[in-house]
Amino acid sequence: MDEIIERIEKELRESGKKSSRTRRKVIEVFFSCGGHLSVEDLYREVKQRYPDIGYVTVYRTLKVLEELGYATSLDVGDGSTRFETALRQHHDHLICTVCGRIYEFFEPEIEVLQNLVARKNDFRILDHTLHIFGICKECQK
Ligand SMILES: [Zn+2]
Ligand SMILES: [Zn+2]
Repeated sequence: MDEIIERIEKELRESGKKSSRTRRKVIEVFFSCGGHLSVEDLYREVKQRYPDIGYVTVYRTLKVLEELGYATSLDVGDGSTRFETALRQHHDHLICTVCGRIYEFFEPEIEVLQNLVARKNDFRILDHTLHIFGICKECQK
């Protein structure tokens, strides 16, 4: 964890971006939380530990992490963008449109089929996102 943060700080310096102690704190909280966080979610977490850190700093830090490829943004269809760490293993998402919960899954067969589709179309895959929208078990009750 510290190693990753060191690496990010080095990249921040090298790309001429500000690397402050405040920013480091935000990054630490982001990686320790995990999951799929909106800016508001992360801000809430940060606020609990460091009441002095403002919303704008949290927002900018997430944007910088995304630019550097350490965070991925997800459009979950409810108008709020979620961020998750890009250091995780690849996975796809089931998104509940009632409660907003996001479930992760990894299905090797789906991955294989996607590669097959790409090959059939002479397409070189760089990345893919699969979101399945619906109603989760809890919300169906
Ligand atoms: Zn639900
Ligand atoms: Zn995820």
